[in-house]
Amino acid sequence: MNDFASWHERARALSIDGRAVIDGKRVPSRTGQQFDNRSPVDGRELGPVARCGPEDVEVAVANARAAFDDGRWASLAPAKRKRILIKFADLMEQHRDELALLETLDMGKPIKYSLAVDVAGAANCIRWYGEAIDKVYGEIAPTPADSLALITREAVGVVGAIVPWNYPMLMASWKIGPALAAGNSVVLKPSEKSPLSALRLADLALEAGIPPGVFNVLPGYGNEAGSALALHMDVDCIAFTGSTRVGKQIVQMAGQSNLKRAWTELGGKSANIVCADCPDLDAAVAASIGSIFFNQGESCNAPSRLFVEELIRERFIEKALAMVPAFAPGDPLDAGTVMGAIVDDIQLATVMKYIGEGKAAGARLLAGGERVRLDTGGYYVAPTIFDGVDAGMSIAREEIFGPVLSVLSFTSLDEAVRQANATPYGLHAAVWTADLSKAIRTSRALRAGTVHVNQYDNDDITVPFGGYKQSGNGRDKSLHAFDKYTELKTTWIQV
Ligand code: NAD
Repeated sequence: MNDFASWHERARALSIDGRAVIDGKRVPSRTGQQFDNRSPVDGRELGPVARCGPEDVEVAVANARAAFDDGRWASLAPAKRKRILIKFADLMEQHRDELALLETLDMGKPIKYSLAVDVAGAANCIRWYGEAIDKVYGEIAPTPADSLALITREAVGVVGAIVPWNYPMLMASWKIGPALAAGNSVVLKPSEKSPLSALRLADLALEAGIPPGVFNVLPGYGNEAGSALALHMDVDCIAFTGSTRVGKQIVQMAGQSNLKRAWTELGGKSANIVCADCPDLDAAVAASIGSIFFNQGESCNAPSRLFVEELIRERFIEKALAMVPAFAPGDPLDAGTVMGAIVDDIQLATVMKYIGEGKAAGARLLAGGERVRLDTGGYYVAPTIFDGVDAGMSIAREEIFGPVLSVLSFTSLDEAVRQANATPYGLHAAVWTADLSKAIRTSRALRAGTVHVNQYDNDDITVPFGGYKQSGNGRDKSLHAFDKYTELKTTWIQV
């Protein structure tokens, strides 16, 4: 049996439970309402999912609060929480194929990346925060001798987490890893477009020994379950990943309610600057093309604006075009596929709208530009490259969140940096040059949370991830993520 048949067979055999997880139990929504969940792979119905709303948020938050207050998790010794989180990560790895299949069916990404990136990265994240938590120390301030001032970190309490659909399990793990390790209770709302893997994570967390009520998952719509969570008076912190548009509403809802801590990881329109003295043009082309088309272009940090120095523009484009056929969309359940389906018909329409605007504005379409694989019933877009893009065009200014690359050329690096920064976003940026001073000057000048020099796709749980400007605040990943989920307490002791 080849891999192709095997993943299709496993998909047919998969049993999917779309009920919420509240207080350690699988439950329907309080109103009994459900929503349909269609697979972007072939348009097939994956089964009903609980449509949670304010009533379910009430119950889940009350349970999360009770669990926090009685200390069933928060008061466990960090070394005990560590052991349970490591077991949770082990279980995720044991259920690797099932989790990967859910991710691919729900969201459309190639199975090989669901396995190697999403499941592997999510399990690594949970394990890393589990391992970290009994190694984080408090501080003693250098106060005068007649006193002792302890600076300690305490869990904030009940954390509401709202995540998007592009890396459903990974984005959820970036929140629940540090939040649970620090001792908080969590109510997670996954995207209505990809709720399934988060629900299975909650089952596995329980199996690992995370007590009931500590980790709850409520599938539902943003303006129903999501806003109820962001507005809730007994949620201490809302950790949001999603669009800048909704991120602004989340911050407002926090202010409108109990001024809960509001952390936002938002959109991007990342600039990738390739200078003529780039040390390895082939590597620059491979990373630029590989990163914009990875995950169907549905990555917040995708290098969607390519600034290439005029001297090497033709050579760069020739090499880039030679790579494009390798990214032709294929069946996400085929182990060889590298580009899968766009998450749903709404996102497909958004991507096609931008492609239409690029054409109408006079950008030169060099590759793609069309919907493909229509016969499958799924939503696929050919990898698309526009050259001759002007900084004023919508394809150069707005986040498309699809496999569309906009190429802008430059003759002055200062001008390229100015244009790179002329965006409300500030998530990632890159510069390619063999000149060390130029690399350092440019990386300092780029207003972004992460700047890459002579590479684009490096990633590690040990490094912070987050944005400047309207790409959000706070950082996911690394020990810095604990800043989001802990309060800093000072205790003065008279000596
Ligand atoms: P989105 O903002 O539409 O939705 C994100 C989440 O918010 C979903 O769970 C949704 O149901 C919920 N939501 C929607 N309206 C809401 C409301 N009124 N109140 C409360 N919750 C609400 O974003 P999306 O389309 O799911 O995801 C794509 C976006 O996420 C892109 O902009 C991308 O750049 C961004 N993203 C950012 C990062 C990062 O780390 N910076 C990572 C991944 C994705």
